[in-house]
Amino acid sequence: MPYSAEDNRYDNMLYRRCGRSGIRLPAISLGLWHNFGGLHTLENGRALLRRAFDLGITHIDIANNYGPPPGSAEETFGAALRKDLLPYRQELVISTKAGYYMWPGPYGDYGSRKYLVSSIDQSLRRTGLDYFDIFYHHRPDPDTPLEETMGALDFIVRSGRALYIGLSNYGPERTVEAAKILRDLGTPCLIHQPYYNMFGRQIEEGLTDVLEAEGIGCIPFSPLAQGMLTNRYLEGVPADSRAGQGIFFLKPKDVTDEKIAKVRKLNEIAIARGQSMAQMALAWVLRLPQVTSALIGASKVTQIEDAVGAVRNLDFSQGELERIDAILAE
Ligand code: NDP
Repeated sequence: MPYSAEDNRYDNMLYRRCGRSGIRLPAISLGLWHNFGGLHTLENGRALLRRAFDLGITHIDIANNYGPPPGSAEETFGAALRKDLLPYRQELVISTKAGYYMWPGPYGDYGSRKYLVSSIDQSLRRTGLDYFDIFYHHRPDPDTPLEETMGALDFIVRSGRALYIGLSNYGPERTVEAAKILRDLGTPCLIHQPYYNMFGRQIEEGLTDVLEAEGIGCIPFSPLAQGMLTNRYLEGVPADSRAGQGIFFLKPKDVTDEKIAKVRKLNEIAIARGQSMAQMALAWVLRLPQVTSALIGASKVTQIEDAVGAVRNLDFSQGELERIDAILAE
């Protein structure tokens, strides 16, 4: 039977304005960094995407290099789109990125106009899309003039390949410089995608102020610290977990006793709030007014169902926030 989206898909999700733009994004967005590559089945990917959309997740984030192998997440997404979600294309905000190594030679990495334009053309072919909603520069390039990289992003919008532009992993000063160039070109930066979660709070030291002043939205990636800020590792490292599989960025040695001891204490606060640990970690990221959406990953449909439940309780008392800060500072 062909997929038909749930009629009530917009009833329970919150949509938050992205900076000072016309776009609203779901409080929870889904990223395809892992679980959509050549090692995973199309059927699981389709199930994740369908459930996400049925629960009001209208924003899907990819990058040219997601897999493994690089490119395969875009291919899986394209296949899932053709089978299920294509009739709903206008209800989806789909992003991709370029900035990390993608192909050999001098033109397949970093931030030249040559790389970025070639890369989005490849991403369009792999996904079968006519356009992306958001195209990001994935990381700053210390050697290419910012004018060239931002000029390429402006060109990508003007040529119809993407509707909006985003920056990822840019520090506060470089974000200010890039935002000015983009504004002057007439293609304002829509969104910034930084690393942010209870274990990694660097953006609080300047970037969030910049985003507020510039009117740029913020979509933190790895809000669950790749699964550590959930109940996933409370009884050890499961063989089917990201750390347990041994092929991903997260390794068993990263799941330290010290971190898990903190998660146990944080989990007690979550339980008292009537939330799962994952839900509290997501609500905590969303407590910042600058944060538009929390960009999760998922290997199972149940994880997406858990995550969207975060929106039922996004408020923290001052006492809860202080207790969380104290645990994190231990
Ligand atoms: P998360 O911090 O949300 O980690 C996702 C993992 O956590 C899942 O794969 C799963 O692990 C576990 N998990 C998720 N929900 C639950 C739950 N409810 N209960 C228990 N475990 C759970 O995010 P990611 O690190 O996956 O990053 C999200 C997205 O951010 C990426 O897909 C990508 O789009 C983007 N990103 C961007 C980067 C950039 O440089 N711009 C860098 C990294 C990510 P398990 O597999 O073990 O089940």
